[in-house]
Amino acid sequence: MEKLDCVIIGTGPAGYTAAVYAARADLKPVVYTGMEPGGQLTTTTDVENFPGYPEGIMGPEMMEDFKKQAERFGTEIRFGMVTGAELSSIPGQYHTLTIDEDTQVQAKTVIIATGASAKYLGLESEKRLMGHGVSACAICDGFFFKGKEVVVVGGGDSAAEESTYLAKLCPKVTVLIRKDEWRASQIMQNRVKNTPNIEVRYNTETQEVLGDQTVTGVRVKNNQTGEEETIEADGFFLAIGHKPNTDVFQGQLDMDEVGYIQTKPGTASTNLPGVFATGDAQDKIYRQAVTAAGTGCMGALEAERYLQEHEEEVTDAQVEA
Ligand code: NDP
Repeated sequence: MEKLDCVIIGTGPAGYTAAVYAARADLKPVVYTGMEPGGQLTTTTDVENFPGYPEGIMGPEMMEDFKKQAERFGTEIRFGMVTGAELSSIPGQYHTLTIDEDTQVQAKTVIIATGASAKYLGLESEKRLMGHGVSACAICDGFFFKGKEVVVVGGGDSAAEESTYLAKLCPKVTVLIRKDEWRASQIMQNRVKNTPNIEVRYNTETQEVLGDQTVTGVRVKNNQTGEEETIEADGFFLAIGHKPNTDVFQGQLDMDEVGYIQTKPGTASTNLPGVFATGDAQDKIYRQAVTAAGTGCMGALEAERYLQEHEEEVTDAQVEA
């Protein structure tokens, strides 16, 4: 079985940043891309809030830059999905990863950067207009809707936070909540209530996002009365939660109830030695490219230190094996 010092799983900002640091430290990192090389940013258009790009940059182009930078220092990038993991709890021992159900590799250190996926309603119209008025990130895309009317779907803290954020840019924000109440915390609900240009519609479900080239409105239905109507809007924001891509590590790594990996405060370390979690796979609060990149750097620096500390133990374990 192939034996590697450092395997990085995922190619969003966290994974590529970890790769840059690990490659420059001569850990000879191998990166597995996952099913969506480049991660969530490849599904967005302009990125204007990543430092270093004063004119902004397209999401896919930025991820291509990340990739080139990682490759420049010798990172090996392999197209493949980690479909299985047997993580060791013994310091210094190899972890075994299964790639695409058939190949196995062993890694002294594993840096998880598998990200999270925004949840969508699953409507055909929503998919077709993605990036053309449909977005799952108000902080990333809200600016493009300055002066326009928008709709936000969801009743949790994200929906409350994103609608108040959008209300600073947009003359009118309509929030659609499928139940007759918020799930969001009281303090977040109060913020919405105190924002005059937000209208909240309860018991309301989205039937269709309207528009040919870009969003022009949303057809909604009241699930109590059955009444349908159209809300005119240029933007349609999903805020119905995210799902971290961590299923493959379930039962081995400490996670919260949703599946976000728990790291030791102020570090990228997990409950298992030599396994580090970075980016959105462990962050349900900030979820930004720049914060993901920061934790990717932490993961690589910790992996480097771990390899130095356990150099002899790894060798001993191998000799015994
Ligand atoms: P949540 O899971 O808390 O809320 C999701 C919301 O979306 C619920 O109102 C849910 O409705 C609704 N929803 C889910 N699926 C659908 C659907 N198919 N159609 C319509 N509505 C749907 O997710 P959040 O992203 O809001 O929050 C995730 C976590 O992050 C929470 O722990 C939250 O507290 C935290 N967070 C904290 C923030 C802060 O403190 N500043 C900011 C953002 C998030 P229903 O209630 O009917 O299930």
